[in-house]
Amino acid sequence: MYQGSCLCGAIKIEILGPISDIIHCHCSLCRKSCGTAYATNGFVQSKDLKMVQGAQSLGSFELRPGKRRHFCTICASPIYSSNEQDANRLRLRLGILDTAINEMPISHNFVTSKANWDDLDAQLPRYEQHEPSRR
Ligand SMILES: [Zn+2]
Ligand SMILES: [Zn+2]
Repeated sequence: MYQGSCLCGAIKIEILGPISDIIHCHCSLCRKSCGTAYATNGFVQSKDLKMVQGAQSLGSFELRPGKRRHFCTICASPIYSSNEQDANRLRLRLGILDTAINEMPISHNFVTSKANWDDLDAQLPRYEQHEPSRR
């Protein structure tokens, strides 16, 4: 079981199952929503994400129909994204985790959208789109 929280501590979550398909995403959407060179995201089963505290502070922004980015309305920390077409799983923002995890990132994605000041120094495969194993 993993634990996570937002910057202000209003939202606390637990992840009751594994995290899969962890990647560093350099696409412009992730860069803008996180304000960083890239976002590190992984899938969790929707049933495995438990809101321990702060559900009332969770807001969302619908970027495209059915695709929402969920964040803390107090401190603006990104928490996860959801897709109505794929409701059984959520895309967790790994930066909110407070505990060490067993799963590790498998690649850098959307590297052609990366910021010119981002030098991609990790020893991971690099893809122009999603990693080939993504389902
Ligand atoms: Zn917060
Ligand atoms: Zn992205």
